[in-house]
Amino acid sequence: MKFLLPWLLISYTVQDTSIVFGDPVQTAAWDVIPDIIICDGAPVSLQRVENAAEYWRHLGHNIGEVTVASHNNYGCINQIALVGTIQINLASQSFDMGRQIGLTKTWSIKDTKEIFKSRIEVMSGWGDTERIMEHELGHALGFRDYNQTGHIMHSDWSRGGLNAKGLKNNR
Ligand SMILES: [Zn+2]
Repeated sequence: MKFLLPWLLISYTVQDTSIVFGDPVQTAAWDVIPDIIICDGAPVSLQRVENAAEYWRHLGHNIGEVTVASHNNYGCINQIALVGTIQINLASQSFDMGRQIGLTKTWSIKDTKEIFKSRIEVMSGWGDTERIMEHELGHALGFRDYNQTGHIMHSDWSRGGLNAKGLKNNR
């Protein structure tokens, strides 16, 4: 975590992940470099998350350290992502997963579109499935779903792939 924002001044929006046609859309972006926190009990391996982070680094996105939290980590227990972090946790009952494998909420400042925290929840048994973490990290970096066959941001996992068209960081 690199800084603290004055909480009371923040108006934030939770990004939804609706289907978008055309080019991939990035609705917000990090200004600071986010660290990734893997909560105890998250159904993902450190290696899988490292690989997913590397996928995005290759596209020019800055991602900091990936660490596994201790079992008594405050943010993990209380399901609160700390500012400056992308938290990964097991899907909780408070998330309406529907038929989704993973769900990511990304908070950004309305005026500046700066992302300041993100939280990824993954269904039990799915986190280490190929492309899941890459896809959810894409949402944590501000990208929406992009339903082109073979694309990493396809909302339907079975139709997705590793295609990264339109995801390079040009900032
Ligand atoms: Zn998605």
